[in-house]
Amino acid sequence: MAVKKRHRLSVKAVMSFFCSLALCSFVAGITISSRQNIEKLQVEQLILEKTIRINDVISKLLYRANSLATMVVQGNGVVENFDIVAPTIANDPAILNVLVAPGGVVSNVYPLTDGNDAVLGWDFFSNNPGNLEAIAAMDSGTILLGGPFRSAQGSEVLVGRMPVYIDTPLEKNKLWGLVSVTLRFPDALDNADLGILSSRGLAYELWRINPDTNERQVIATNYEFARTDAHFTEKHVPVINANWYLKVWLTYAWYNHPENLALIIAGFLISLLVFFVMQNNYELKKMRTVLEDIVKTDPLTGIFNRRHFMEISYMNTERERRQNGECYIVLFDLDRFKKINDTYGHVVGDYVLIEVSSRVKAMIRPYDLFARYGGEEFIIYASQADKKDIFEMTERIRLALFNNEFKNNEVSFSVSASFGIACINDYDIGKAIVNADKALYKAKENGRNNTVFWDVNY
Ligand code: GH3
Ligand code: MG
Ligand code: MG
Repeated sequence: MAVKKRHRLSVKAVMSFFCSLALCSFVAGITISSRQNIEKLQVEQLILEKTIRINDVISKLLYRANSLATMVVQGNGVVENFDIVAPTIANDPAILNVLVAPGGVVSNVYPLTDGNDAVLGWDFFSNNPGNLEAIAAMDSGTILLGGPFRSAQGSEVLVGRMPVYIDTPLEKNKLWGLVSVTLRFPDALDNADLGILSSRGLAYELWRINPDTNERQVIATNYEFARTDAHFTEKHVPVINANWYLKVWLTYAWYNHPENLALIIAGFLISLLVFFVMQNNYELKKMRTVLEDIVKTDPLTGIFNRRHFMEISYMNTERERRQNGECYIVLFDLDRFKKINDTYGHVVGDYVLIEVSSRVKAMIRPYDLFARYGGEEFIIYASQADKKDIFEMTERIRLALFNNEFKNNEVSFSVSASFGIACINDYDIGKAIVNADKALYKAKENGRNNTVFWDVNY
């Protein structure tokens, strides 16, 4: 019959697995969250850098209007050197045009291309739409940023309008008119390198409140990246007079980082390893216990075998010697057992041996040793007893075997045994066994099914 091997999980192994898992999760959690914090700080720093950069690149381009203003002031209001000065100012690809507008009306524009010439004669001080910044610049007396908006040429532009004041013989600081720089948008932002946000996988939005409509206007984005409104950072971008805002969505998710996943998998594998080592240890311990039991016990009856009995007996006699205790050996042999085998078969004979072992085991005291000594012969080591006690115990065992029939399948019969008892004199176990054997022989001689105490005469 195939024996099914049962695998039991070791509680220690399972506990170790979960402890290791908890520890690894803790370490992974700390590592991931600190990595997340570092990345967040890096992104925040990048955003701050970009806000400064946006202001820087736009301002640098628009403040080129200063050169135009200087030209006007130096010419005492007469625009003479425009064709020389303008090309040096408009030498950046982001600049669409530069112009001067004495009295608010555009007189010169550079470069004088197809689209740009349409602006000649435009009156900035009229109530035309798009003139808000020009009028505001006039009122404030400083350069003001306008846009981005759609220009008359149909492209998106940013404009810097700067009022120019000159001293006349009649009036000091008289408003002369305007100078202006127009930037292509979003090309003007090229040097701000917002593309680095895209390469970091971050979605961004540069926005402002449109002064014409009072509504939120998105100036530049990279919407192809996923955005979740829960995680974003928004920073104020002051550009000359305008207030822009840079909103960046933090797309960082711990599971997007292979290192983090590797950390978690490693933690799990370590825990699994801990589990298998512990489980293996448990199986080995269990196997050792089983092997120890096999070495100790008699395979048929499950009681101690002769070898183990002898080992323990020697240890017991040493203890008895120190305590000066009295101890006995009882040796018994089943009567005419061969006949049982011959009559009912070997299997029934085995059953008798098992049943005898179990009856006797139930009747001895817990600290007495009981073993199968050989074939149908058994041995008891009884400690802390006197002669009377041991004789009574032996008789009780003898009667328990003889008076209660053995039943196996359809057959029932009685079994008797002969007992020999010897005191372990001088704590010599070997000699006591020899004496008990002599007494047992005498019991057989006496006609079996009786108990004999050893005597020097035997
Ligand atoms: P006596 O009263 O003189 O002891 O007679 P006996 O028949 O019991 O003694 P004998 O030594 O002639 O026979 C012992 C028998 O015990 C012989 C042997 O086959 C049998 N025997 C020994 N070990 C086992 C066992 O494990 N199982 C079975 N079924 N029989 C066993
Ligand atoms: Mg026998
Ligand atoms: Mg025998």
